[in-house]
Amino acid sequence: MEQQKIKLGSHVGMNGKDMFAGSVREALSYGANTFMIYTGAPQNTRRKELAQLHIEAGHALMEQNGIEEFIVHAPYIINPANSVNPATFELAVNFLRLELDRSSSMGSRILVLHPGSHVGAGKEKGIRKIAECINTVLEAGSECMIALETMAGKGSEIGSTFEDLAEIYDQVGQSNLLRVCMDTCHMHDAGYPVSEDFDSVLETFDRLLGLSQIAAIHINDSKNPRGAGKDRHANIGEGYIGYEALHRIVHHPALVKVPKILETPYRPLPDDPSKTAAPYKEEIAWLLQP
Ligand code: FE
Ligand code: FE
Ligand code: ZN
Repeated sequence: MEQQKIKLGSHVGMNGKDMFAGSVREALSYGANTFMIYTGAPQNTRRKELAQLHIEAGHALMEQNGIEEFIVHAPYIINPANSVNPATFELAVNFLRLELDRSSSMGSRILVLHPGSHVGAGKEKGIRKIAECINTVLEAGSECMIALETMAGKGSEIGSTFEDLAEIYDQVGQSNLLRVCMDTCHMHDAGYPVSEDFDSVLETFDRLLGLSQIAAIHINDSKNPRGAGKDRHANIGEGYIGYEALHRIVHHPALVKVPKILETPYRPLPDDPSKTAAPYKEEIAWLLQP
């Protein structure tokens, strides 16, 4: 029986004149066989025209090198859970609609979305707005699914429990187009025993949402102890989750088909600490060791 290949990569940039083709080249330089991009700066909503992204050249490179899939992350400044400021909610709806289109035109089937923050109005109201937003953007049908990310629970963030996500599923009409993107750092920071007993985390998830709903996993160590609710990513093996637990998740037999994406911080260069470099080539090779 042929063993299925683990899909492991990292978040990569999309800029310069090569845009998407450059993203693929960056992923390949890390020895990755999948990757994640933002379609522009994650902290704003300005985006380039599709025609400027060199999508075909990128796909040709992917094909030549056996990269079958990549995922897109929506910018984290949009807040579809905001029930207080209608303009903020509108911006989220309008942006998300375009971003879904962009993602499917680029050939991604997964758009990762932070559920958002209820900004003091309470979880129930926040969740209702998230569902309203998703229902609106999925209205016309979509080739790209929305993967709700598990959150650390800082501030008034929604999505720090699997129950929050299940509640969103319940309120979304086309929940067949919803998925979940787990984030190891976020789940740990939210209190789940990611390091101590990941199988029990999967069991809880399976009971509430079903393992088939996991569309991606962000593989990050955490700078804070379990339950801290902070969301500070650490490099692999340098945080409270640890190499062993993350290695086990990457190699987990129940998750072989799931693309896994590193979002660990850049490291200062040893000979010039004022500059930083991506740690992904080393971390990918380390995690792929048997
Ligand atoms: Fe995220
Ligand atoms: Fe993440
Ligand atoms: Zn994070």
